[in-house]
Amino acid sequence: MKIGVVGTGYVGLTTALLFAELGHDVVAIDIDKDKVDKINRGICPIYEPGADEILKKHASKNLRATTNYEIEDRDLIFICVGTPSRKDGSMETKYLEEAARQIGRRLKRGSVTVVKSTVLPGTTEELVISILERESMMKRGEFGVAMNPEFLREGLAIYDTFHPDRIVIGELDKRSGDILEKLYKPLNAPILRTSIKVAEMIKYASNAFLAMKISFANEIAILCEKLGIDIYDVTKGVGMDHRISPHFLNAGAGFGGSCFPKDVKALIYLAKKLGYEPRLLTGTLEINEYMPKHIVELAERELGSLKGVKIAILGLAFKPETDDIRETRALPMVKELLKRGAQVIGYDPKAMENFKRLVPEIEYAKSVEEAVSNADVVIIQADWKEFKNIDFDSFENLKLVVDGRRTVRPKKVRYVAVGRGD
Ligand code: NAD
Repeated sequence: MKIGVVGTGYVGLTTALLFAELGHDVVAIDIDKDKVDKINRGICPIYEPGADEILKKHASKNLRATTNYEIEDRDLIFICVGTPSRKDGSMETKYLEEAARQIGRRLKRGSVTVVKSTVLPGTTEELVISILERESMMKRGEFGVAMNPEFLREGLAIYDTFHPDRIVIGELDKRSGDILEKLYKPLNAPILRTSIKVAEMIKYASNAFLAMKISFANEIAILCEKLGIDIYDVTKGVGMDHRISPHFLNAGAGFGGSCFPKDVKALIYLAKKLGYEPRLLTGTLEINEYMPKHIVELAERELGSLKGVKIAILGLAFKPETDDIRETRALPMVKELLKRGAQVIGYDPKAMENFKRLVPEIEYAKSVEEAVSNADVVIIQADWKEFKNIDFDSFENLKLVVDGRRTVRPKKVRYVAVGRGD
């Protein structure tokens, strides 16, 4: 099939790689010329394990990138542009609108436009389809539309895309759903066909639920600290219940990334607009906002004042195996530490350059060893594998390790962790 993918970020690039690997002819479109050039040269513009190898196989063969909307001959066009938060928490639709306008102007009769970006219920029908109709001067039915939410995890994007738990297809018309079902058939994943609005809501409800599980574990963790017991002993027993499952029950620094915070915010905004004051969703975000501060307070509790204390933050990305710093918990943590007069040293295997652009005012170390050897305190914010191999006991200067992700367990140096009541 001839496929167009609009937006080549984490979702768009992975989607383009999947379809190229399945043997389709893929054109990837982005407004970012640098990304487009890199893709055509077989260089992955993001850090995502496994993506490089697949890109090298297909770049400038059955996958090419362009800044022009070359979609006139495409059977399927996937919209994968960002839908970030506006200041008031609502969903920014300007990238989506522009993509729909450009696609609409060149839309082939009978082609199917698929919204893969995370969009609030009602957006595809009320916004995207209206723009496509206006710009193409065709009516729905003359072209197909579907909403196909993406559930990949950054850092595991390639694995998740090739081995999804389920494929959700929200369809405007049966033909569009049939085409998508055929496209995804080789993945052998369960396929759920539903309406567009339900598909849109499945994505938000899934993300809100996972975010809520993390905040729930964090709330219980704080109680565990006060009770002198360990949250990880508790969640081990809780997670053995198949109705709950052990996943996303890890207490620590909280969730970040480009999805959970913005999607919960957007759902809260929508709920309020619909006349309902959401309690669980609001609480989920409130607990999450508190956790970086709680970690800093744990350090303060151990050392008294943090003024002049050298603190290394290990892991600046929002989680390991990515260079993505969107909504990373490292940012509020750094702000709290600077407010208390600490001297902060940052280190991350992949996200340092991105974080430096955001926070130029702190020191950065070239290696994890350099960061730890210059610090009085280490805070682990993202559990990169390389941190597990560090012998923290061998650093004489080190007074304290605060573990935000239960990554390590030094024997001699003082150790505190979220939800560890000792
Ligand atoms: P991203 O910011 O990494 O990438 C978006 C890309 O779209 C950028 O490269 C940007 O240059 C490009 N773009 C913007 N406007 C454009 C236009 N008019 N035409 C062509 N390209 C344009 O975003 P992402 O993380 O890939 O997320 C995309 C969508 O998928 C969002 O709605 C997000 O919520 C959702 N999502 C993300 C993830 C994730 O883990 N990142 C997972 C599931 C769903």
